[in-house]
Amino acid sequence: MEEWRSRRVEMQLEMQCAEWVSRLVQIPSVTPDQAGPRAGETGEAAIGRQIAQWFNELGGEVHVQGVRPGRANVYGIWRGTSERWLAVDVHIDTVGVEQMSDPPFDGRIEDNRVYGRGAVDTKASLGIILALLEQMQQTGQRPAYNLLIGATVDEEIGTTGAPAFASWMAARQIVAEQMIIAEPTLCTPVHGHKGVVRLLIDVAGKAAHSSQPHRGQNAVVAAARLVLALDAENARLQTAPATPLGHAYLTPTVIHGGVGINVVPDACQLFVDRRVVETEDAHTVMTNLVALAQANCPLPIEVKVQKDLDAFYQPGDSAWMQQLADWSGIAPEVAPYGTNAWAYPNVARERVVMGPGSIDQAHGATEWVEISQLAKMAHIYQQWWGIAESVDRNDER
Ligand SMILES: [Zn+2]
Repeated sequence: MEEWRSRRVEMQLEMQCAEWVSRLVQIPSVTPDQAGPRAGETGEAAIGRQIAQWFNELGGEVHVQGVRPGRANVYGIWRGTSERWLAVDVHIDTVGVEQMSDPPFDGRIEDNRVYGRGAVDTKASLGIILALLEQMQQTGQRPAYNLLIGATVDEEIGTTGAPAFASWMAARQIVAEQMIIAEPTLCTPVHGHKGVVRLLIDVAGKAAHSSQPHRGQNAVVAAARLVLALDAENARLQTAPATPLGHAYLTPTVIHGGVGINVVPDACQLFVDRRVVETEDAHTVMTNLVALAQANCPLPIEVKVQKDLDAFYQPGDSAWMQQLADWSGIAPEVAPYGTNAWAYPNVARERVVMGPGSIDQAHGATEWVEISQLAKMAHIYQQWWGIAESVDRNDER
């Protein structure tokens, strides 16, 4: 009898989480830069307004912070039984859908999965949070700590939502004891990942007919010398001792130049991606890289900094990290990809990247999350927030 009851309670939690994820998937929120005809450009703002309404209906104190024109972070606060804070960053934008083979926004629940764009990255985590807030409201429970849920914009492209959230917290002198950055990690506590510096470099030459190359200045040749210098710098980086996050990498990723087979090229553009480890400061890495490029290119260059983000690293053996590992049954790891976690060193004492479902299902032609993963992460949140493990809806009637 007791076993049957607990299975029923578990199924109710699974369905409640799945329904919330499905609702979220049905509101397109493709990041505006990738919004094609299937998605429309205003979805991120629309989902933000809906989340603000849900937070309000679920008893949250709601705050809205404009981040970029027409794009706002939404914050919900639920007061706990202590003055301490727990925080979550959950981004509300998704990548584009134009290449999807599956219907992107039907949010169908099938084969113990929820399907659609954002299902795993990262509406899964927001769906769990909404389901648990709903349970808290239905049962009149208060969490052990103040909960601050930040539904942030612009994670996938510009990365402006997270630093805005961090400044919003700092302005209110909120420092979270612990913070989860929600991303699909299969419920693995991820305690570190590299940062990134990205540069767009324009090499300026002078056009001439290739029968008289001495009249021109060849931007492609100059860029080639620069690429070799960058590659030598990458080789040097590999000789440094590895940090817990591994080695720094420097990779020239894109090169464009030239207009015709008989023309000395007057311009060449180069994109450079530099992965940053935790012993480095991204801004210093950027400054040094610009200087290295200037010193090693025989022609003038113009550099645009597209990204300049620190690594995230927190020791994997802290008490909280061990607790998360116990709850999930998976040891803490570091990850190869980047997240919003870099933004919060001053407003969260401890950070972890963690959420249901696999990154392998993110950004693809189909996207889904396993409902069993939703339930697993929901139990981790329940323990973290200090709320009841299970609520039997039948008991309330
Ligand atoms: Zn994500």
